[in-house]
Amino acid sequence: MLLRMRHLYVFFLSLVILWMGLVCIFLSWPNSEGRRIWPRITTGHTLREARAVIPPDITKDDGNDMKTRQRSDEKDVYFLHQPDRPDEVVSVKKGFASVALRGDWPPEPIPNEPDFAVVRSLFNITNAGDGGLGFGIDPQKLPPEEQKKYNNALDVHAMNEYVSNLIGVRRRLRDVRMEGCAERYSSAGLPQTSIIICFVNEAWSTLLRLVHSIHDNTPPHLVKEVILVDDGSSWDFLGRPLDVYMARFPKVRIVRAKSGLGLMVARMYGYKYTTAPTITFLDSHCECLPGWLEPLLMPLVADPRVVTTPSIDAIDQNNYGITAGPEVMVGVVEFPSLTFNWRNPPPRERRRRTSNIEPIRNPAMAGGLFSITREYFDLLGGFDPGMKVWGGENIEMSFKIWMCGGRIETPVCSRVGHVFHKHASYSKIRQGAQEAGEANNARVAEVWMDDYKKYYYDEKKNGQFYKPGDVSERRRLRERIGCKPFSWYIENVYPEVAIPSDGVYSGELRNMATPNMCLDMMTSEEGKQPAMYLCHGQGHAQMFDMTDLGEIVSLGCCLRHRGGNVYVAKCTWSSESHIWEYKDKLISRHNNCLTVNATQHVVMEECSGKKSQQWTWNYHRPRRKNVLRIEEM
Ligand code: UDP
Ligand code: MN
Repeated sequence: MLLRMRHLYVFFLSLVILWMGLVCIFLSWPNSEGRRIWPRITTGHTLREARAVIPPDITKDDGNDMKTRQRSDEKDVYFLHQPDRPDEVVSVKKGFASVALRGDWPPEPIPNEPDFAVVRSLFNITNAGDGGLGFGIDPQKLPPEEQKKYNNALDVHAMNEYVSNLIGVRRRLRDVRMEGCAERYSSAGLPQTSIIICFVNEAWSTLLRLVHSIHDNTPPHLVKEVILVDDGSSWDFLGRPLDVYMARFPKVRIVRAKSGLGLMVARMYGYKYTTAPTITFLDSHCECLPGWLEPLLMPLVADPRVVTTPSIDAIDQNNYGITAGPEVMVGVVEFPSLTFNWRNPPPRERRRRTSNIEPIRNPAMAGGLFSITREYFDLLGGFDPGMKVWGGENIEMSFKIWMCGGRIETPVCSRVGHVFHKHASYSKIRQGAQEAGEANNARVAEVWMDDYKKYYYDEKKNGQFYKPGDVSERRRLRERIGCKPFSWYIENVYPEVAIPSDGVYSGELRNMATPNMCLDMMTSEEGKQPAMYLCHGQGHAQMFDMTDLGEIVSLGCCLRHRGGNVYVAKCTWSSESHIWEYKDKLISRHNNCLTVNATQHVVMEECSGKKSQQWTWNYHRPRRKNVLRIEEM
């Protein structure tokens, strides 16, 4: 009897389990549109809770690549709609223009999402941003409710996200490559790459537009997978709705950090999921232009220690127009701050390049966008897990890439757009980013810069504010790989550098005619004129360095001679008017000498050797061999 009851009990229990199983299968079954039905999200079952649900395994590739994986009836149409909003179903032909639709959005409105019906009744938003052009609206014409969203979006994202939302999450981008690029690079024989994109509280539209741009402008067989690393975003729409949206891309995989890891650790977290022989990192607000990937991968085949970065085109933070930079620049690191900067190529590099589509070499890279072989990335120990939030990691990478046998090249034919915003949307949930960046720099100085670290710490008051933490592991890594000393990097990769108090001549500039007076830069404002002031011995604006190129630098600015006058100017490495000679106490250029005049200003006068043309510095060191000066080009 007891046994029979037990049987009955088991029978009913199985029925219940079977029923629950059937319900689950129904919910996850692809509907007629080929998409999964997502659970209707209501209060009580918030998106936030929903994102705790393990995302569907969307990495399983069916063997086809990203572009060809379309149902036969979708061959040249692309659907931008949701099954539950049939009135907004729109199909757009391939080779379509940009169309922004409610259907591109998650089922719940995202914060500050435009009311498309209202906006469309006021402005023509069809083709907004098509081709990569900018698009703007007059916010004054919006009704108050929409104006509020417009301003809110600006505030939260530090870019005009409202306008970004009016541009389709998928838009055509013009092929802006220079002549000869298309012929120079092909996808034949290139290795696959795994793309890693870390994001934290990225705007919906910019993140989606990036993934679509990869999909549209990349030979499918080159992309093994795209790993989106959610580094602890706090916004609901980046949870389950993003999973659902990305399910249409079989190669996209979203991995989520339980809490904010900071950029470097998040990248290493994403790296664990990669399988291709090369890795490509991108920021979460980029757009990849036609032909962007091939030039990044090709140099890696010939030399697995080459690291490539694209030409970064600015995506305007107000209208999302993509503009190619005026000229190819090189990435450098500035001393003593260790911040990254762009400059014109130095004469040495200009002479080395034989054509304007030849890859350019950089002493440093911006860091957000680059390709590297797995082999070299592993050898270099990836990113430093001791670094926090943001900053410094690009400088560490740059130094070690060069010092350990590789080089950083920009194949200028590769173009990727990037939104440069004023501040990041995650600054609210990532406190202390500034301090973290400095502590990260201190780690770079401790591990990679040998004696040169003093030039960083001088500025930072002996590092008392920024503690590098334990760097022993990273030092051991450097020793294990057997990398070159930092002085090798300076002398061979970056001999043009201006390091305060490490110039060929350096210190105070005193004039023989006015013994107690020193040349004072006074300001870093361009166009101002330096003058003589009482020597104060405090360095700063009275501290001058002559670089190996022949510039005279103070406060990070160059002394410029023009006509008979001398001005403060931004250093460029490319202007003849920044170059000087120092010989027999005379500071000259083409027989004109730096001279103190009656008003205690400095001017250019024909060299005569008089006292007011005689100058002394405190220190002198030999010139570096590898610098090519402008006159030697
Ligand atoms: N990021 C991240 N975790 C962080 C900080 C930043 O994943 O703690 C991401 C961020 O979303 C972006 C990338 O790292 O995709 C680079 O950050 P950002 O764009 O602010 O740097 P910038 O372009 O200003 O140098
Ligand atoms: Mn960025």
